[in-house]
Amino acid sequence: MARIVMKYGGTSVGDLVRIREVAQQVKIEADAGHEVAVIVSAMSGVTNQLVDYVDHAAKLCDLREYDVVVSSGEQVTAGLLAVVLQDIGVPARSWLGWQIPLRTDEAHGNARIEDVDTTDLVRRFAEGQVAVVAGFQGVDSRGRITTLGRGGSDTSAVALAAALGADRCDIYTDVDGVYTTDPRIVAKARKLDKITYEEMLEMASLGAKVLQTRSVEMAMKHRVRLQVRSSFERLPGTLVVDEDEIVEKAIVSGIAYSRDEAKVTLTNVPDRPGTAARIFGPLADAGINVDMIVQNAAVDDKTTGMTFTVRKSDLDRAVVVLKDQQPDLGYGELKADSNVVKVSVIGVGMRSHAGVAQSMFKTLAEKGINIQVISTSEIKVSVLVAEEYTELAVRSLHSAYGLDAT
Ligand code: ASP
Ligand code: MG
Repeated sequence: MARIVMKYGGTSVGDLVRIREVAQQVKIEADAGHEVAVIVSAMSGVTNQLVDYVDHAAKLCDLREYDVVVSSGEQVTAGLLAVVLQDIGVPARSWLGWQIPLRTDEAHGNARIEDVDTTDLVRRFAEGQVAVVAGFQGVDSRGRITTLGRGGSDTSAVALAAALGADRCDIYTDVDGVYTTDPRIVAKARKLDKITYEEMLEMASLGAKVLQTRSVEMAMKHRVRLQVRSSFERLPGTLVVDEDEIVEKAIVSGIAYSRDEAKVTLTNVPDRPGTAARIFGPLADAGINVDMIVQNAAVDDKTTGMTFTVRKSDLDRAVVVLKDQQPDLGYGELKADSNVVKVSVIGVGMRSHAGVAQSMFKTLAEKGINIQVISTSEIKVSVLVAEEYTELAVRSLHSAYGLDAT
């Protein structure tokens, strides 16, 4: 007997036909004698619709009420799946976040999980009951409903798996696993059998939307055995594992890209101590995350150029903040460009192999793609290029590192 967590995304519970199929899959595990917790998302499109309602209801909305509205999609699917399970003879009960309880902080709209009390769930397991849990939602210390940020039901599943000490946590979705890159761009993208937590974390935060980034962080921290697999076919998916579980490590495991980038350049910034702090301090205070940064060497020892990236949605605010600082900072010009994409090469093998960055630069050069900004970490190299080169850059890098399916 094993204890397993199964999570189904929006398309997998998109209508009653799909929900019945999910119930059959759950029945197989329950009949095998396993203890099962199923975490569900809202039906596909529902959360977007709910967010839309709130956006149109009032100019500025109280985030506590936003959470009341947008969390409701999961309540519907949890109840429906429990009904359908009971109908096919599987004892099942639905659970909302506050009923478990799954406790979070008070950051409404994007709350962090603090604690999951599994006492009641475990008691029901012992009685042979399947737990159907509404993903994406929790409860704060004041007893108000919170939500975990878009895509948050992945994190609900992993948190529950960690708290339950589950033997495995399967994320059932509309793709059959994690690919070397986006198959919509590269027809020769390959499904990976295994990927390390660290690589998955980079892939998720760099734009591969299979898993919410926080869910991977949590899986890594608690060593949850995570698998991304298809809810449409019973095939093995991609296992997210510890590095030492992968025998043959590829130097590069995947190519990710993110279009959600914008570039800001400040010219003729006075080159003296405190300048960077005076640029990035006010941006941080405004809650704007800065990602890649390059500072050009001063030609005349007096001024320098500063280029950095922010999310596209933060660009307008960043420009306002920096213009406010202009008299104080005394830079020359402010240039903003949202026509950029960040392309990244990821692989734990980079730790022990030199030359990965060099072959990236060479490949892009051969295609005539100009690199605007570069940043690196231990297991990735990212470059910022003009957005129109997204496909070309991703495709040529995918071949250059030998990732193409044969
Ligand atoms: N339904 C929520 C969303 O669309 C949570 C999830 O599906 O993971 O963001
Ligand atoms: Mg999702």
